[in-house]
Amino acid sequence: MENAVHIHPAVDNGVQHNEVADFAGGTLACACTTNTVTVALGGQTAHNHVCGCTQCWKPDGALFSQVAVISRDHVKVTANEDKLKVVNPSATILRHACKECGVHMYGRIEKTEHAFYGLDFVHTERSHETGWVAPTFAAFVSSIIESGAAPDNMGAVRARLTELGLAPYDCLSPPLMDALATNAAKRAGVLAS
Ligand SMILES: [Zn+2]
Ligand SMILES: [Zn+2]
Repeated sequence: MENAVHIHPAVDNGVQHNEVADFAGGTLACACTTNTVTVALGGQTAHNHVCGCTQCWKPDGALFSQVAVISRDHVKVTANEDKLKVVNPSATILRHACKECGVHMYGRIEKTEHAFYGLDFVHTERSHETGWVAPTFAAFVSSIIESGAAPDNMGAVRARLTELGLAPYDCLSPPLMDALATNAAKRAGVLAS
């Protein structure tokens, strides 16, 4: 029986654990059938998760995006780069999206002081390869309300995420929040850098 809560197509039938050790990566493609934008990822991703924020790209009908990080050195646009445009130039994560179909191909942080500088944000569902790390948590769950989700349904959404093994957080996961706080503490001189 189909669950009434649609989190994201990649997890709605259960989280698929297809991780391959020493995965070589793959190619992301936008949704255009001609002049498709492609981005080569030269390795495995990390911290894959579903995200409820209003900035990440979500497939039609999904409450959440699915997004992971990879070293920016391993991200290379391989076709139709001229179709890419930064969605919101004032955001911390600059999301390079296809102007035609709207799919976000990669998100990049250019602020060198940021804890996640050096990591790009990517949606591995746009690749045909299997072997990527599976999502392991849900970030910014409460933020789906800002995109129009019913506040009354949040209990059902969190219950479904928990059932799928995607621990729901209203910010990032504890390891990522710790990384942000560690960076802030080092910059403030509270911790030795
Ligand atoms: Zn496109
Ligand atoms: Zn997000």
